Amino acid sequence: MIPYGRQEITQDDINAVIEVLNSDFLTQGPALPAFENAVAKYCSASFAVTANSATSALHLACLALGIGKNDYVWTSPITFVASANAALYCGAHVDFIDINPITYNICVKQLEKKLTLAQKENKLPKAVIPVHLCGQSCEMDQIHALSKRFGFKIIEDASHAIGGKYKNDPIGSCKYSDISIFSFHPVKIVTTAEGGMALTNNSDYANKMKLLRSHGITRNPDQMTHQPHGPWYYQQIDLGFNYRMTDIQAALGLSQLNRLDDYVRRRNELATRYDQILQSMPVIVPFQSPDNYSARHLYVIRLKLDQIQRTHLQVFEALREKGIGVNVHYIPVHTQPYYAQLEYQFNDCPEAERYYSEAISLPLYPTMSEKQQDLVAKALKETIEE
Ligand SMILES: *Cc1c(COP(=O)(O)O)cnc(C)c1O
Repeated sequence: MIPYGRQEITQDDINAVIEVLNSDFLTQGPALPAFENAVAKYCSASFAVTANSATSALHLACLALGIGKNDYVWTSPITFVASANAALYCGAHVDFIDINPITYNICVKQLEKKLTLAQKENKLPKAVIPVHLCGQSCEMDQIHALSKRFGFKIIEDASHAIGGKYKNDPIGSCKYSDISIFSFHPVKIVTTAEGGMALTNNSDYANKMKLLRSHGITRNPDQMTHQPHGPWYYQQIDLGFNYRMTDIQAALGLSQLNRLDDYVRRRNELATRYDQILQSMPVIVPFQSPDNYSARHLYVIRLKLDQIQRTHLQVFEALREKGIGVNVHYIPVHTQPYYAQLEYQFNDCPEAERYYSEAISLPLYPTMSEKQQDLVAKALKETIEE
């Protein structure tokens, strides 16, 4: 089976991990700040806060922005459930903005329309979580302008997008947002096995996220209610979690970072090559905006079902039978049973539902060979022309 995505682990990565295993600190040691500093520098962001997953980082970000009970948070329906769950963890209400049918990211026009309506009803969101689907940035300049006009915060779910650029700024720079989130799950661009990170230019948000990722405990006397009892002393000043990343993971991440630019370059090469090979087939290849240099986490095609004799499910199953590890990203979140039983009504998202009925993610990863890619294209051609 040619998988839809896979990590690459080199001898350098293995050596970096072994070095930590032989050191004094498996966790809470020097590899963690080294990794944080390297990513912050790479992204031109002031602060980076690692977590044990992007899901945890999203939760920390929502808490740092003060999201709580009765607040509203809006995101895209075409995302992994974690983007929306993070707001539910804080007791907030979630709603969804339909996608732009060209980019598959949240539609800025729909966002503006819904904000105007929400303003009249006094139900403006406290935060919006744009998701950079497949690695291509949302139209952040416009979303940022709306955030100023309507007064909401922005968390970029950039889980797919490390290594990419938007208008020549690195994704993660937070030029147009309060906090940006990366995921380091093995299918993503670079990996720490499990892991995530929040980037921000706001020191209060960074400090809050660092406090909450480790139980809400501080050893900084300035944050305590009274003088420390002694050198052992710490205070719990908030209700936090254990969301820490280990040094073993951070060392792996730091080593992987050396190949980030090569990975993204190779992903773009392969994606452009797919565009060419698939040109004559009844599929829509991914649109790329000139504002973006996408990390190309996923290569999603849409089937022109009116020109194909098979259903979406039949095409998917036939490709799997031919050893092509296709996937579907994503099932619209508001249609998940957990969301459907929440006692409020979601925004209609017809574009998201149409996208879901046609989308297939083809295999794409930096170590994929052109021969493997040709096999994928051949299998697809046979499947949709049969
Ligand atoms: C993978 C992913 C997450 C969650 O990442 P984890 O590191 O697995 O918690 C969140 N949002 C999106 C868009 C993702 O693709």
